[in-house]
Amino acid sequence: MNISEIIIAGDTHGIEWRLPVLRFKGSDPKAPKIYIQAALHANELPGTALVHFLCEMLRRAESAGQIRSDIIVVPHANPIGAAQSHFGELQGRFDLASRTNFNREFPLISVRERDGLVENLDRFAAVEKLKRQLLHMALGCDLVIDLHCDDESLQYAYIDDAFWPEASDLAAAMEMEAVLLSDGESSAFEEAVAFAWKHEKAGEKASKLPGKLSVTVELRGRRDVYPDLAKKDAEGLLRFLASRGAIDTPVALAPFTGPAVALDNVEMIRAPAAGTVLFHRNIGEHVAEGDLLATLITRPGMADGTAEVRAPQAGLIVTRSTERIVRGRADLMKIACKTASKAARKAGTLED
Ligand SMILES: [Zn+2]
Repeated sequence: MNISEIIIAGDTHGIEWRLPVLRFKGSDPKAPKIYIQAALHANELPGTALVHFLCEMLRRAESAGQIRSDIIVVPHANPIGAAQSHFGELQGRFDLASRTNFNREFPLISVRERDGLVENLDRFAAVEKLKRQLLHMALGCDLVIDLHCDDESLQYAYIDDAFWPEASDLAAAMEMEAVLLSDGESSAFEEAVAFAWKHEKAGEKASKLPGKLSVTVELRGRRDVYPDLAKKDAEGLLRFLASRGAIDTPVALAPFTGPAVALDNVEMIRAPAAGTVLFHRNIGEHVAEGDLLATLITRPGMADGTAEVRAPQAGLIVTRSTERIVRGRADLMKIACKTASKAARKAGTLED
């Protein structure tokens, strides 16, 4: 395992950020090149824990001469976000200086323009320097895994239609409970990678990308950081890598049997008013149309002081908010359903 550091100059005097990058050298130049990063949202640590154990497994495979692919691992992709503490709370999702989500506004370029990402980096602010170097590393690879987590959540992934159903092997290997098929219409890291590949040929846009993968894996909820879970997930990711020929070890994957639904089929359950939320249903539960999901106490102590939140259609509760006091229109749940939601959805990501 080779260890290097990307050094990013800060935007103020006396600051620089150091980003460790771990590399394994593969024996087969034809094997797919792998890029794995965790904690781009700096307060989402299940992926960092996974990667810690995965690297241990990869070092063993390296000692046994089993690594066929070049593999890049960035265990914590966002040192800038990790240092943002605001009144005692880590702010890992948005850059405090610009309010930009750390996982949005990656440059949408063709892979042909990859080298330009890192030319004259001094032109850019620190966050942009970071994003450009992460994207540059990923675009040198074939299989790109971006490890995130949700609030309270099942294990699921956002996978662009262009990689489906080929990518069902990842869902099977990691024993995902759901897959949300995205439309490639945002500037999130995973979608910027896919965008660059889709636009490889000038004047064309590929709709399928065989042999490639760029995916956001949501490793359950923010607090689901435990040794056994992280080891199990690392073993799952290692099985996927082996099944794609990156590691020379036999592996047999069962087919993925969980739901894979388009983003249009995700019901975003929102709070109809501000209040205290009393959940009646939990993640992992299947609900029927009209089921009571939550009661909001909107006017505490009053006879008519509550509002009900019901399921607009049947589906699987994939995520739930950890908040118990909510603002009006706050996201409460994501429910994966068989048919499209009647609520209007803008193309792109489900949340800011
Ligand atoms: Zn995230």
